[in-house]
Amino acid sequence: LLETLADQAAVAIERTALVADIEAARVAGERDRLRTALLSSLSHDLRTPLVSIMGSASALVNYQDTLSDDAERELALTIQDEAERLNRFVQNLLDMTKLGAGALKPRIDWADFRDIVGGALERAKRLIGQRKVRIDLSDDFPLLCVDSVLMEQVVFNLIDNACKYTPPGSAITVWGRPRRDKVVVEICDQGPGIPEADREQVFDMFYRVKAQDAQIAGTGLGLAICRGLVEAHGGTIAAEPGINDCGTCIVITLPLLVEPELLGAEEKV
Ligand code: ADP
Repeated sequence: LLETLADQAAVAIERTALVADIEAARVAGERDRLRTALLSSLSHDLRTPLVSIMGSASALVNYQDTLSDDAERELALTIQDEAERLNRFVQNLLDMTKLGAGALKPRIDWADFRDIVGGALERAKRLIGQRKVRIDLSDDFPLLCVDSVLMEQVVFNLIDNACKYTPPGSAITVWGRPRRDKVVVEICDQGPGIPEADREQVFDMFYRVKAQDAQIAGTGLGLAICRGLVEAHGGTIAAEPGINDCGTCIVITLPLLVEPELLGAEEKV
């Protein structure tokens, strides 16, 4: 009788543990769903006033007659810069939320990488300032099967970093070549580089290199998003030292043919 009771108790304990596990998973799942929904609606809500602030600031800057002196113009430029910075942060937050929820699936189509780089450079024009950007894509660089909106976001984030972490006069190179069944793209700068010990972790969410942390504003989301977006295309992304061991080179590979399971799904968030 005691043995039967002990067996039954053991079964009851196992079942209770299982129920507790299921309940914990349900609570965690519900928490994730709520967090995703909250972040998503917060990002959407933040973007509406931001777009209007950016529009108003840009109107102020562009219609010079409305500004009576240089100090006013400087203030309007600050509003424009900071609103754009906040907008980039909100965009990154939104992308991260979608990636985390598995809701960001590429809408793949044929795309010319030159147009993608052109779009990203146009958006980054004010960040680039006086820097020289050299585009070195070989003549045989093929059309790609990518979501051009998402890929432009990747190139934009990398150009943004190349500008943020390098001195104003330095050059940025966008290099690309085909290699058998894939293409290799590199975005290189002449800045301080990423220490070897940090080169893998910089792709983790919220990770920032200690030495730069205090001096340059950032969130540690940009590279994590780049990795998520590139991997969603079946590609890879890594940080390497730049030319002659100087600066940073972010190396991306993208397959020329996309796996069927990566295609077709629509964005859900
Ligand atoms: P953020 O730039 O917002 O901090 P990222 O995820 O884009 O976030 O980058 C993570 C960290 O990697 C940065 O904080 C910085 O320390 C380092 N990093 C990224 N790009 C560069 C670069 N081009 N040169 C030097 N360090 C870089």
